[in-house]
Amino acid sequence: MASIYIETYGCQMNEADSQYIADRASASGYAIAADAASANVVVINTCTVRDNAEKRAYGRMAQLRALKIADPGRKLVVCGCLAEQDRDVMIGKAPYVDAMFGTRDLARLGDALAAWRPEFSDDDVDLTAESLLRGTFGGHGDCVGDAYAHVRAFVNVQRGCSYYCTYCIVPHVRGRFDNRPLAEIIREVDAAIVRGAREITLVGQTVNAYREPATNADFADLVELVAARPGIDRLGFLTSHPKDYTPKLAATMGALPNLNPRFHLPVQCGSDPILRRMNRKYTVAQYREKIALFRATCPDWALTTDLIVAFPGETEDDFAATLALCDEMAFAQAFMFVYSPRRGTPAALWEQIPPATGHDRLVRLAATIDRGVRAFHAPKVGRTVRALIQGPSRKDRTKFAAKTTDNVTVIAPAGDLTESQVRMSPWLDVRVDAALTWGCTGEIVALASRFDDVTPQPVDARATIDLVTVR
Ligand code: SAM
Ligand code: SF4
Repeated sequence: MASIYIETYGCQMNEADSQYIADRASASGYAIAADAASANVVVINTCTVRDNAEKRAYGRMAQLRALKIADPGRKLVVCGCLAEQDRDVMIGKAPYVDAMFGTRDLARLGDALAAWRPEFSDDDVDLTAESLLRGTFGGHGDCVGDAYAHVRAFVNVQRGCSYYCTYCIVPHVRGRFDNRPLAEIIREVDAAIVRGAREITLVGQTVNAYREPATNADFADLVELVAARPGIDRLGFLTSHPKDYTPKLAATMGALPNLNPRFHLPVQCGSDPILRRMNRKYTVAQYREKIALFRATCPDWALTTDLIVAFPGETEDDFAATLALCDEMAFAQAFMFVYSPRRGTPAALWEQIPPATGHDRLVRLAATIDRGVRAFHAPKVGRTVRALIQGPSRKDRTKFAAKTTDNVTVIAPAGDLTESQVRMSPWLDVRVDAALTWGCTGEIVALASRFDDVTPQPVDARATIDLVTVR
């Protein structure tokens, strides 16, 4: 039987696209391979948002070239943002690649998979939804959780972005906003629930700017509808833009019991002149107002953000303003980046800040952010938190990594728990014994199949349903 291996880099939009590719491959009769070496088709779904993401993708292609040499019949496919950006030059840089599909060509990739299919021979291979999703994702982050990918589903609600922040490549490689019809989104959510998803994340570059073209339903309406789907466990959404955060959405977030209590609202920096140069469409005062609105309806939620340092023109005073805002906000988590010039974006042409200054500011920013993160994690010590399995910990495969609904990583010894048990009951109740900056550690005290199960299965009962051991 033909098999496919999909490696995903970058944001949740790419994860959603990889899920689409896996679905199309499965419909064409492919099994999902455990690794690139055993696959007939290897797909790399690339990112180009920063220079190091681009270098990583070319590095990975060069590694995979050896597999092509060993088996010239194997297809090596590149898709995603780098394929879109480098569509004219990639064939010169990586001539061994069989095909490239830009961000707007995913349907063509599905067609190509169907066309290649007859070239491969058939064996008897498990084609269950679970086996098809295994190996779908590239295994980034803090766990190696491919076998558990089915418990989390990313559903795209819009493609592209029309905001044109002056540092960002996304509108150039993914095109302008294109909101999907509501009925199509709901169908995809329902299909993910049937496949066993416990957590649905609605994704879009400015997800809260969603508007259904036909009915004018807005993002709050969409969230309300999705949260009410039969069988849905938990719901989250990424990434919101401050400009589009409305009192209506704040009220909806405060009212729905099955929303994940985590709000990701990138601020990027804490200085008005820099926000203006970034074309972010809000001031620091407006960001503060949005946060006040959020805190009024969701007082216990985690607030997380993205930040860029050393953007062209950023002075020490601008940077000090960012540090002060971060101290004030006490973000529960922040993704921090040194500005990386992207070809074709306005800021790439402006005078650049030396890399050493960027590095120094990143280190100082991280120290400030850490204070907020520790303050958010500390109260979890001594409490039992419910967290969704991610898989064995990357650093120690005898431990499980899981994520709480407010997006904190928890690591706990697997003990005798088996893979099958955790797949059937993917919510782990973890008694937290220590809080660190990257997350918490603890002990698994119970398992639950559904988030709202009030009587989870105690861990002591596990020996009676033993199947496959994790290791
Ligand atoms: N659409 C989201 C928003 O508006 O916040 C973010 C999308 S972007 C893929 C994720 C993050 O990457 C951004 O929030 C920004 O912090 C960072 N980023 C984007 N372009 C960058 C660049 N050229 N250099 C450094 N960081 C960048
Ligand atoms: Fe990029 Fe700005 Fe659009 Fe986010 S809102 S994807 S940062 S252009």
